[in-house]
Amino acid sequence: MVKSSVLGYPRIGADREWKKALEAFWSGKLEEAEFHNQLQEIRLNHLRKQQEQGIDFIPVNDFSYYDHILDTAAMFGIIPSRFPYEGGAVPLSVYYGVARGTKGAAASEMTKWFNTNYHYIVPELSGATPVLTENKPLAAYREAKEKLGIEGKPVIVGPLTFLKLSKGYSTSETDAWLEKLLPLYVQILQELAEEGVQWVQMDEPILVTKLTEADVQRLNTIYETFAVAVPNLNIMLQTYFESVENYSDIVKLPVKGIGLDFVHGFSGNMQSIKKLGFPKDKVLGAGVIDGRGIWKASLRTKLELLKELTDLVAAEHLIVQSSCSLLHVPVTVERETKLQSELKDSLAFADEKLQELVLLTKAISSADTEILNQLEAYDQAIQALQQSAERNRSEVQNAVATISSQEPLRSRPFTERYAAQQAKWQLPLFPTTTIGSFPQSAEVRKARQLWRKGEWNNEKYADFIREQIDIWIKIQEEIGIDVLVHGEFERTDMVEFFGEKLAGFAFTQNGWVQSYGSRCVKPPVIYGDVAFSGEMTVEETKYAQSRTKNPVKGMLTGPITIMNWSFVREDIPREQIAYQLAYALRQEVEALEQAGIGMIQVDEPAVCEGLPLKEEEQADYLAWAVKAFRIATCTVQDTTQIHTHMCYCEFHDMIDSIEAMDADVISIETSRSHGELIHSFELNTYKLGIGLGVYDIHSPRIPSAEEMTAMIERALRVLDPKLFWINPDCGLKTRGLDETVASLRNMVQATKAARAKHEATV
Ligand code: GLN
Ligand code: ZN
Repeated sequence: MVKSSVLGYPRIGADREWKKALEAFWSGKLEEAEFHNQLQEIRLNHLRKQQEQGIDFIPVNDFSYYDHILDTAAMFGIIPSRFPYEGGAVPLSVYYGVARGTKGAAASEMTKWFNTNYHYIVPELSGATPVLTENKPLAAYREAKEKLGIEGKPVIVGPLTFLKLSKGYSTSETDAWLEKLLPLYVQILQELAEEGVQWVQMDEPILVTKLTEADVQRLNTIYETFAVAVPNLNIMLQTYFESVENYSDIVKLPVKGIGLDFVHGFSGNMQSIKKLGFPKDKVLGAGVIDGRGIWKASLRTKLELLKELTDLVAAEHLIVQSSCSLLHVPVTVERETKLQSELKDSLAFADEKLQELVLLTKAISSADTEILNQLEAYDQAIQALQQSAERNRSEVQNAVATISSQEPLRSRPFTERYAAQQAKWQLPLFPTTTIGSFPQSAEVRKARQLWRKGEWNNEKYADFIREQIDIWIKIQEEIGIDVLVHGEFERTDMVEFFGEKLAGFAFTQNGWVQSYGSRCVKPPVIYGDVAFSGEMTVEETKYAQSRTKNPVKGMLTGPITIMNWSFVREDIPREQIAYQLAYALRQEVEALEQAGIGMIQVDEPAVCEGLPLKEEEQADYLAWAVKAFRIATCTVQDTTQIHTHMCYCEFHDMIDSIEAMDADVISIETSRSHGELIHSFELNTYKLGIGLGVYDIHSPRIPSAEEMTAMIERALRVLDPKLFWINPDCGLKTRGLDETVASLRNMVQATKAARAKHEATV
């Protein structure tokens, strides 16, 4: 019999009760004992749901108090020495200290989990002596069994993935570290086997990235060790997010099952399995239901795929599963009451995906018409959305087809535009500017709430926003900034703001997903053809410009960032969605220019987040991402200055793409990428306007003018002073008023010093 399996279930709860419990505990409003109780209740509730749906392999130990990588490190007692930890089970105060920082010790670094928007805590190995502080998977297994009678499937982060995602050791020490960790893994597995556990899911997503020969060797060592130590425990070696590299090495490993992603790694995995076959003695975990997307699957198509797989793998060796953990999707569609029915009927969040898995599993071994009708209903829902007006905006489709078939070029190259812009704008050497947002004070947030609740009418709210703009235009003038911004007080979020004003978007009431720790995001849903349906930013920008003689930059979010921070439709390629967004934004750019705004910034902080995991696919993505930016910005006059902003990305192998965006000025974050970015400019000269962030905006600390001078001088060693701008690293919306003003004053002071020093020689 074919069985169904889930790789992980969202932690946050349908009502974000998990988030609320964590935050209540942190703020001291919840006692530790009660906190544990609440979390247990949430955890059991999630298991119960899967049990009720009839999932055969229910994951346990996928739940977390913060993050599963941090859990794994804590389980091995790997706690940075700056925290007061003396061995044994890690107390919650230390656990959360590592995650969030304490008064005396900085938090561990946090980074993106592969190409998702989930962030994990990077384990710091240096100085640690790994020991097993507690067998977490065992505890989770026992709990599920005792409380609910569930024969759970413990989920464990595999050793190779854990090592590869950790830092604080050099490559030459990898094997030594593996030697320290392996016995602990063995102990965990032996205890599980003794307890009677049947299946363990060993997550090794690192296997979808390129492995060195040494890593393949390590993989052999790891799984051979396990095979000897726990010969009767079934290990499902689980991969996801892409097709595996080294397929033939992986299928040879002595494990009982191999889990492959047949959604995001469909073509690669399919090719491998067809070409190289699948071992007769192994179980195939077929990840056919998308764990990351929010759409219903065409179950008939999935059934065909599974049938194709049963030609290669015996039915009793097939498990129907989600492509990855359901952590990356919201909990349930059921509570959405405001979505248009065609849209709502096409959505499947975690709970609906459980139903899909079970239905599909039944369908394989039955020809029951009732079941076939149920499958059919999925296609009907998908078809209905497909035929809706939202997906058939022919004017957008035609315009985008034409525009994207041409090369989007400014009318003249940068050097010529530069001369025209210099003549028009008469900016001083090293112009100063900021990235766009100013502090979203409690007052600003309050005003927005009152307006959203209807207690303030549009006029009152607009007056309030104008007041804020006035205040900040004055502040910027008084500090002596050259290119001003209006401050973005009317925006909660840089994507949501535009999504609410463009056609083709929908917003859920409860579509939250965990981003990091207790922080959840509710991405907009791009479900139709995106269309411009009226000016979005002109009013505020024009108002700000009317209050000052200095230039005010218009401020837009770029097409790729809007796309990467949304859930998007899957019936057309992402490239096409990007072009539709770009075309809509172009109309806003033109409207701003028409309204007399001569500098327009189109932010693209999320370009890196869409970078495909497979290196060979990255160039293509970057090419169309650049093209989308240019579609949005290329139609303005020579004298109109296009700015862009990017942050928190490994920029070094992207400089060519950044240059190809052809923005007249880019402001780019530097502090987190440290010297690396500056080093890249040593290797390649950058030929357009550029401002390297001279201070990190993530800390309330006020940087001194001297520190910023040092940054400026360092940058000037590799960048052309004529093209150099001075700005902070990113937007200032999370900062307070006083620190913002003080920091910007220092920035202007540092700029003046730099001008005095360099003016004569430029
Ligand atoms: N203009 C935006 C701001 O200043 C940019 C934010 C970002 O880069 N994430 O807030
Ligand atoms: Zn930024």
